[in-house]
Amino acid sequence: MEWIHPMPKIELHAHLNGSIRDTTLLELARVLGEKGVIVFSDVEDVIQKNDRSLDEVFKLFDLIHMITTDHQTVTRITREVVQDFALENVVYLELRTTPKRNDSIGMSKRSYMEAVIKGLRSISEVDVEFVAAPDSEKLHNSCDGVGRKKIYVRLLLSIDRRETTESAMETVKLALEMRNVGVVGIDLSGNPLVGEWSTFLPALQFAKDSDLYITLHCGEVPNPKEIQAMLDFKPHRVGHACFFKDQDWEKLKSFRIPVEICLSSNIITKSISSIDIHHFADLYKAKHPLIICTDDFGVFSTTLSNEYSLAVRSFGLGKRETFALAKSGIDATFAEDEVKQQLGLIFDSASPEYV
Ligand code: 5GP
Repeated sequence: MEWIHPMPKIELHAHLNGSIRDTTLLELARVLGEKGVIVFSDVEDVIQKNDRSLDEVFKLFDLIHMITTDHQTVTRITREVVQDFALENVVYLELRTTPKRNDSIGMSKRSYMEAVIKGLRSISEVDVEFVAAPDSEKLHNSCDGVGRKKIYVRLLLSIDRRETTESAMETVKLALEMRNVGVVGIDLSGNPLVGEWSTFLPALQFAKDSDLYITLHCGEVPNPKEIQAMLDFKPHRVGHACFFKDQDWEKLKSFRIPVEICLSSNIITKSISSIDIHHFADLYKAKHPLIICTDDFGVFSTTLSNEYSLAVRSFGLGKRETFALAKSGIDATFAEDEVKQQLGLIFDSASPEYV
């Protein structure tokens, strides 16, 4: 399946701190170990372990945040994550991250996000287009092997389920202020066993009313009331949808809400017990909008090409169907029409290889 890597791809569900190279994480952990902040030998195994429950994933995130949350490191990991996606021939990336405040190092949610933006600006190996600019330069052909690679990047600000209504509202206001630097929407994520939907609803409603796009982690654990409430909110996309019941599927399908599918993540965390019963198959058969994503390529040791290969092997997709699936992701992006058009051209120019 060597054709999957060069195929243009769209990534819509990627968490910044879940997408750090293992090598970078180990290097940063070693430095903290030398400073005596952590015991390196304790964390080394945790970082390198591949098999984790959902609960262990969130414990790992606490560790990762301890290792990565300073401005310089946030800038570095942003740069590396975008470079890695570009090398995967991702032509459009919606990268999500939780703005963090840490008074002890003078970090505010805004300065955290400024460090992310600095990371985007610091990339020289590929062209990164992240500011919504109708007159932006014409796209280099990212698939002809001659032009420089170009990747469109848009940002989603995540609200962590541990946050209060006030803190969630602060994130939404920040997103509104940062629309001119590529922020297009809000994500709700974090440990699904923590927090109440009613806590986040005021901020999410305000975001929606202010024309920000919304995507929700929905149905990662069995929580029928919350799933229904989330669907009634009519988010622009949902992620995961692992514990949906018939009535949830009916609602999701009638509202045509696109689903971000993260196969490896769902299997590794055992949210889905086996790939052959994954809801990808039913949604795909029903022609429901869906998009294959990585979730956390660092934490789950995967790549977007790997996720496509998994879908091809598990659900018997052909080359042409896989390409059509990847291209259909354009409609689910939160990008401006101009960018959607450009993405259409990129896929069209690559299509002779895939039909
Ligand atoms: P960050 O927002 O710090 O850049 O990325 C890591 C954060 O994303 C985690 O702390 C967690 O809040 C969220 N996250 C990453 N992967 C998952 C996932 O599979 N499920 C949920 N609910 N949240 C996740």
